[in-house]
Amino acid sequence: MSTTRFLIRGAHIGSGAATDILTEGNVITAMGSRLDATGAEVIDAAGLVALPGLVDLHTHLREPGYEQSETVLTGTQAAAIGGFTSVFAMANTNPVADTAGVVEQVLALGDIAGYATVRPIGAVTQGLEGARLAELGAMASSRAQVRVFSDDGKCVSDPLLMRRALEYVKSFNGVIAQHAQEPRLTEGAQMNEGEVSARLGLTGWPAVAEESIIARDVLLAEHVKSRLHVCHLSTAGSVEVIRWAKARGINVTAEVTPHHLLLSEERAETYDARFKVNPPLRRREDVMALREALADGTIDIVATDHAPHPSESKECEWGAASFGMVGLESALSVVQETMVETGLFTWDDVARVLSIAPARIGSLATHGHALAVGAPAEIALVDPNGRQLFSTDRLAGQSHNSPYLGIDLPGRVMWTIHQGYATVFGGILIDADIVSAHAEAVRRG
Ligand SMILES: [Zn+2]
Repeated sequence: MSTTRFLIRGAHIGSGAATDILTEGNVITAMGSRLDATGAEVIDAAGLVALPGLVDLHTHLREPGYEQSETVLTGTQAAAIGGFTSVFAMANTNPVADTAGVVEQVLALGDIAGYATVRPIGAVTQGLEGARLAELGAMASSRAQVRVFSDDGKCVSDPLLMRRALEYVKSFNGVIAQHAQEPRLTEGAQMNEGEVSARLGLTGWPAVAEESIIARDVLLAEHVKSRLHVCHLSTAGSVEVIRWAKARGINVTAEVTPHHLLLSEERAETYDARFKVNPPLRRREDVMALREALADGTIDIVATDHAPHPSESKECEWGAASFGMVGLESALSVVQETMVETGLFTWDDVARVLSIAPARIGSLATHGHALAVGAPAEIALVDPNGRQLFSTDRLAGQSHNSPYLGIDLPGRVMWTIHQGYATVFGGILIDADIVSAHAEAVRRG
């Protein structure tokens, strides 16, 4: 595989002016106007916006153990189609990613597939059982160099275990990513607790079940002077707690999912389980509070919580269906719809919340750099013009449980460049054998 050279002609750098970008191997070697294209593959990027390759701090890749839902290969193909060049893979696999062996396995599968840099997230507790700490230090010092730990899908509800985990990860600048859900307050819960749940006769999921855990955890993080990340904020009250904690100087970051920025609880009225998710879709006023908090920096990042499920787990009655929705392929369009089209965000802000800040929180040095000479050739080129009904032809992962099918959304990722080679070419996913061969060439240097 020869060195890859691209000349991207006339892309807008975030919110800025149109510029040419030259990549050679894994580096951006020149930027400016009328760059020399000798030996380079030319990409006509007139009208396109160039962003640093997107980074998702919260992806469920399902491998090992649940390959009928997704694999590292298909999940990173979904990532590439969505403009992502790195994903952090959650630990709730089978076996659980709670040892150096499992995280190194996930790392290796990602390296071989070559569609994105896969950074495994380690479990906080053994088997996600909430009883004993997992081997955090062994995972941190493994080849996977784990820095983010989470029992996501479950809450680390024991305050003493949470305290110990926060203390433990300080020695290697790790972070605990908490799925904030008080288990007793959410037993049997099916959707947001309120008027709609009462009308539909579904067990409610109160906002306080999320907010009380976040309040406890920011105080624990302050007490032991450690670093906390809060997954998928979904309520206006959670925003208020994070705002208070940041004003107090507590070392906390927070994420919001695309679906919580767009969709609200009324979707449950259809009993269409594609809208069943954890945490649940909330009230319209929560959606607006989350957008405002993302715009003012109280919420640091957007993360997808991409959660693939096979059709038999979603095409059934609401009560029996699994929680979760896929999100990698649609994330950028939903952020454009909710934040850019509304005037809350520039494209530079999009680069911040979907690339720069998540890479920083996850200690991922090879990603999340503003596009500049010397920066890694990790690039997404998006066509922000035009709208289309989101359909299954936009989905590249193995599962199709997207809540956006049939919804009109703006924008489309046209090119994704990872480690200097293309994974998406003119909106089309590059074949797995070609991508894998490129990745191998990069590994060999
Ligand atoms: Zn979660």
